[in-house]
Amino acid sequence: MAKTLETIGVIGAGVMGTGVAQNLAQKKMQVRLIDINESILAKATGQIEQTLRFAGMMGGDEEEAEDSDVVMARIRTSTDLNDLKEVDFVVENTTENWAVKAAVYPQIDAICRPEVVFAVNTSAISITRVGGVTQRPEQVVGMHFMNPVPLKSMVEVIRGHHTTDDTIATARQFLSQMGKEGVVVEDYPGFVSNRVLMLTVNEAVFLVQDGVATAEDVDRIFVGCFGHKMGPLGTADLIGLDTILYSLDVLYESYNDPKFRPAPLLKKMVAAGLHGRKSGEGFFKYPTFG
Ligand code: NAD
Repeated sequence: MAKTLETIGVIGAGVMGTGVAQNLAQKKMQVRLIDINESILAKATGQIEQTLRFAGMMGGDEEEAEDSDVVMARIRTSTDLNDLKEVDFVVENTTENWAVKAAVYPQIDAICRPEVVFAVNTSAISITRVGGVTQRPEQVVGMHFMNPVPLKSMVEVIRGHHTTDDTIATARQFLSQMGKEGVVVEDYPGFVSNRVLMLTVNEAVFLVQDGVATAEDVDRIFVGCFGHKMGPLGTADLIGLDTILYSLDVLYESYNDPKFRPAPLLKKMVAAGLHGRKSGEGFFKYPTFG
């Protein structure tokens, strides 16, 4: 096996970056967690600490029993991408927006060592397009993590047009260090999972908008009739309605196919700040902490 990846750069400390950072620290890797301001970073580390403490109180496996201070000490936060100079691997989890991601990659390309692989955590953005704004497109790979990251063992790995077999091997090694497995798919926007999931969620929103059923009843049908653990609207709240809207926009723009047009109700809810679990309300209501 190749040399262990010891220090990992995690860019973006939102829903996904927070989960990735926690998972890496629990698996004894050093983490450099980057976001645009200190308050977002403080919220992320506060949330990780709370999750670790809660897991500690509930028992769990040996790793989770490790003292939360020991795990937290592996996570260093920063607002400066220059702190990624020494990392062995990067997972980028910034906002699902082309302009945001396109601005980050040329910077890290200049900062990180030439052999470092960049993993793009995205719901729908083309990995080939991301590779194109770097000087190392053969070392850019898609890694579509599932939420909540520490609890999900399968990851959709996306091979961009220029991604090499060596990079795929490094990606697999990285996932194995995280205790996960990957399914490798080719690069078309939305990949496998979100080409199907985003259409399903969007159609479920249209059902509510058209008054066919309430959000509760739409989800009850998927849980009760199909045995799904969660319905499409509960899933949308977990992902974040803003992220769903961004993903549909990317799919719509990429395929120029009207089937991906976002439901007006989804746009309205996002504009109203109803972003799902992370904001305390989406199709359903959630308790908020801190
Ligand atoms: P989020 O909005 O919760 O977090 C994004 C974070 O990126 C924010 O904290 C923001 O401040 C930060 N950011 C923006 N620009 C930055 C920059 N230039 N430098 C550093 N940080 C920056 O979004 P999320 O749900 O965590 O999604 C992140 C990525 O993961 C997206 O591409 C999304 O499509 C993908 N994804 C999300 C889910 C999900 O369930 N939410 C699942 C799989 C993949």
